Amino acid sequence: MAEFESKGSSNFIRNIIEEDIRNGVFGGRVHLRFPPEPNGYLHIGHAKSICLNFGLAAEYGGLCNLRFDDTNPTKEELEYVESIKEDIKWLGFDWGDREYYASDYFDQLYQYAVQLIKAGKAYVCDLSAEQIKEYRGTLTRPGRESPYRNRSVEENLDLFERMRAGEFEDGSRVLRAKIDMASPNLNMRDPVMYRILHAEHHRTGDKWCIYPTYDFTHGQSDSIEGITHSICTLEFEDHRPLYDWFLDELKIHHPKQIEFARLNLSHMVLSKRKLLALVEGGYVSGWDDPRMPTLSGFRRRGYTPASIRNFCERIGVAKRESVVDIALLEHCVREDLNKHAPRVMAVLNPLRVVIDNYPEGKRETLEALNNPEDPGMGTRKVPFSRVLYIEQDDFMENPPKKFYRLAPGREVRLRYAYFIRCVDVVKDQNTGEVKELHCTYDPATRGGDAPDGRRVKATLHWVSAQHAIPAEVRLYDHLFTVPAPKEEDEGADFTAYLNPHSLITLKSCRVEPSLQGAAPGSRYQFERLGYFCVDAFDSSDGWLVFNRTVTLKDAWAKIKKGQGLNPA
Ligand code: ATP
Ligand code: MG
Repeated sequence: MAEFESKGSSNFIRNIIEEDIRNGVFGGRVHLRFPPEPNGYLHIGHAKSICLNFGLAAEYGGLCNLRFDDTNPTKEELEYVESIKEDIKWLGFDWGDREYYASDYFDQLYQYAVQLIKAGKAYVCDLSAEQIKEYRGTLTRPGRESPYRNRSVEENLDLFERMRAGEFEDGSRVLRAKIDMASPNLNMRDPVMYRILHAEHHRTGDKWCIYPTYDFTHGQSDSIEGITHSICTLEFEDHRPLYDWFLDELKIHHPKQIEFARLNLSHMVLSKRKLLALVEGGYVSGWDDPRMPTLSGFRRRGYTPASIRNFCERIGVAKRESVVDIALLEHCVREDLNKHAPRVMAVLNPLRVVIDNYPEGKRETLEALNNPEDPGMGTRKVPFSRVLYIEQDDFMENPPKKFYRLAPGREVRLRYAYFIRCVDVVKDQNTGEVKELHCTYDPATRGGDAPDGRRVKATLHWVSAQHAIPAEVRLYDHLFTVPAPKEEDEGADFTAYLNPHSLITLKSCRVEPSLQGAAPGSRYQFERLGYFCVDAFDSSDGWLVFNRTVTLKDAWAKIKKGQGLNPA
């Protein structure tokens, strides 16, 4: 489990930055960047990186750029660029006017490549991709030098220029850095800098038919933007010598690359490739399906930006990979919604209740608290009448010992209303299913307390049948049944671990009338049931659709209690 760190507390990245500020490295400046590749929607792992980069920049009075790492020409990138910007803003961060694209640096990168060729540090290689791989060797076997390695500078300049001019087929030649085929680090064995790809780019169109690799692009883009600390995930640790080599050879501004462990979340996959497979395979309704670990999915599900930022702060940053329990994320959401979400009553699986001794046609309005955690949120009126709905599972005809809710002959409290006692049960003649309850109410218990001090063991939520609004409610559960679908994936298809019950749709729910016209995206606590938000896409004027954000049961608090810790 990841260690806990709160804002302002130290972590190893802060230590490096603070030391650099103290020693006047980079003139005391702090300038960071968040560099997404626009090939998918942002997920909660990206949120960790966003919070880290934008958060540290703000903390040290620095800047954070948004840079699209768009060196791979593909078709759908525009949709991704727009969604990425929307998600970063939603999370609460601002890149000001510093929206950059690696593709904006293609001319400069080309010049850098020419500079390295002239210095005898890069060459055009005619080996095929398979041959390059073959020649590279392995961790235990040194590589072999390409027969094209000692081409003259003039020949290299000529061939590279002709690569750019489109004279050669895709894959027929590459530009490689001339480093060390015997290096223990495979990344240093003459890595590829440019490949030929006759493909349209979403920003540069058909201007280029050669594209720089990630390794040749990233550090130089950092340098061009004057980045001071280039924070990335651990898989780039082995690339750092190469990052440094390019910048040293080019003799340009040299940012410091720092690696941290990426976030893994239990019961989830966090790889754009796998998320795309879920979307394309129709396993979810889209990138913003409320079960997806994407920011757009979480937004639609009802998560607040504050709760995600809080989660990212709590998991902290470390050098070692770990899996964070999704229960912690849910705990953060619950904590935030508990403070801010107004309470309402909604019945998901309605059971009709007739109060026999309540006058027909009478209607009372009872006062209900909007949030017991925050009296400042005030009260609202809830209508009460002779026919109500309660939750089907709040009644049992033959209750077992520990069932304290409604049963024949038993008295319970209706929240904010009265005590009622069940006097009769109406069943379907054929199926035996309970269709309707008859109850009596005690007028002296208005507001929910008995003046004679008698007690009941349960308080139920309810709605007035005549006044309630029909609604659809979507109950979401974990997308995967196993805590680590990523590891289970080896050899098997990770979709085999999809939870078949991750979405349950209920279409005959009833919600209290105060929800009439509830704004898309607004969040509520349905008393006793959980937190819900109005679906921003499928709700309309006449039909409210609610997504369950999270249940009330706090698995994280339980885990912490079991470990003898206080829930954070
Ligand atoms: P994925 O593996 O999901 O495809 P990626 O690393 O290819 O992600 P990028 O768009 O390249 O995605 O990532 C942008 C930034 O977000 C990078 O700096 C990357 O290191 C960081 N990042 C991506 N995934 C995570 C994660 N799970 N935890 C923390 N940071 C992440
Ligand atoms: Mg990537």
